[in-house]
Amino acid sequence: MAFDYAQYQSIKERIKEKVCLVPVTKTKPVSAIEAAYAQGIRDFGENYVQELRDKQPLLPADIRWHFIGHLQSNKVKYIAPYVYMIQSVDSASLLQEIQKQAKKHNRVIRVLLQVHVAQEETKFGWNADELFGWLSGGDWKTWENVSIQGVMGMASFVEDRQQIQEEFDEVYRCFDRLNREIFTDTPLTIVSMGMSGDWELAVQRGSTLIRIGSALFGARN
Ligand SMILES: *Cc1c(COP(=O)(O)O)cnc(C)c1O
Repeated sequence: MAFDYAQYQSIKERIKEKVCLVPVTKTKPVSAIEAAYAQGIRDFGENYVQELRDKQPLLPADIRWHFIGHLQSNKVKYIAPYVYMIQSVDSASLLQEIQKQAKKHNRVIRVLLQVHVAQEETKFGWNADELFGWLSGGDWKTWENVSIQGVMGMASFVEDRQQIQEEFDEVYRCFDRLNREIFTDTPLTIVSMGMSGDWELAVQRGSTLIRIGSALFGARN
């Protein structure tokens, strides 16, 4: 399967205007992205720096690339010239490096703070105490080339819907608390949670942005 536009439209119909749908194209060929682009889609999510570096020059410049995978600070420089949003910011040092590289290119990069809610150790993200502790310090307030717009979270890869729901609720509570305690002047607006297998539940629990790969482009090898 290259790109399932009928499925895209069906998900869009179900989320209405309230929720953004970002197709995730990791491991998928440029032709699949072109097929989606031809239908008017401009937002795409990628996980790997090298893969994004390979694909980006081959595709139209008005694509809004969302980086959603784990990002090492020393690789920020490769995507800083064009990346639209980095959803997977999981440390202060990474955010500082994004600021530095965005400034070099005289741009503002949108970011989401990734919060760790899954049981799995392998998933990345801040724990809430660290995040609030660091944000309270306020260093980031002078960083004019990063725009913090919300939070991102991934639920555990399990069958247990109750557990997934609780993890989504934890992401949402973090978002809510950030707006009450830290972002009191300009509130965060994005809660990025939900993938092919759990987006409906994520939307019920307050997601405003879902990241959908395999449901639109087929299973990955
Ligand atoms: C791969 C990936 C997705 C999409 O996953 P699907 O289950 O294929 O929809 C979403 N978010 C992140 C962070 C991913 O790595």
